Amino acid sequence: MGDDRRRPGHSLQIARLFGVRVYVHWTFLVLVALVVAVYRGTGVHSLAAGLLWIVAVFGSVLVHELAHCVVAQHHDVVVDDILLLPIGGISQMRTIPRAPGKELAIAIVGPLTSLGLAVAFGALAVLTGATVWPPTLLAGSWLARLAWLNVLLGAFNLLPALPMDGGRVLRAGLAMHEDRRTATVQAAKVARVLALLMMAAGVVWDVWLLLIGLFVLLGAGAEEREESARKDDHPGG
Ligand SMILES: [Zn+2]
Repeated sequence: MGDDRRRPGHSLQIARLFGVRVYVHWTFLVLVALVVAVYRGTGVHSLAAGLLWIVAVFGSVLVHELAHCVVAQHHDVVVDDILLLPIGGISQMRTIPRAPGKELAIAIVGPLTSLGLAVAFGALAVLTGATVWPPTLLAGSWLARLAWLNVLLGAFNLLPALPMDGGRVLRAGLAMHEDRRTATVQAAKVARVLALLMMAAGVVWDVWLLLIGLFVLLGAGAEEREESARKDDHPGG
């Protein structure tokens, strides 16, 4: 299993960093079309700013994912590629280490990197005299917007909703005290509750949350199935 290096479907390779191929999914074009539609008729400058913002969002997601990849490689995990989607990034790893300490390190470094970027951008914003409060994503100083974007990325990914980073941290934490299968079942339970809350919030406020809730709901089930299908540990299998 896992000897074929298949590329993610419906996507375009844009870079290769730290030996990891970076792909952008075609649905990225939906985001571009959305920005063009929103800024249509407001002039070339605001359209360019809108498109530049998409690049900034994807750049921040990419740095977050690269942090996961570099720590994973440090723990001898083969990372095939990073897929950038409008709802975030996915690092395709051949295996997730079963040692809780390693899984925890790989999972937590992404949000920590985002929060670190947030502090750096926030400090730069303050130093340059930009307004950083109230939180802003779509207007105001670019440094402040980048700071808040990375706060959002870091904090949101820390939600304990498997397969999101926070869910992996939770599973790894539980697995330090009990077997991994039980830990996965418990983490998946928490994830389902959070997924339903996200989807409910998504129906009321934001379709993005609905999509992420759905992603968590399906992902938690997949993690659980994968874990229960495993008879026992075969290192390197
Ligand atoms: Zn992450």
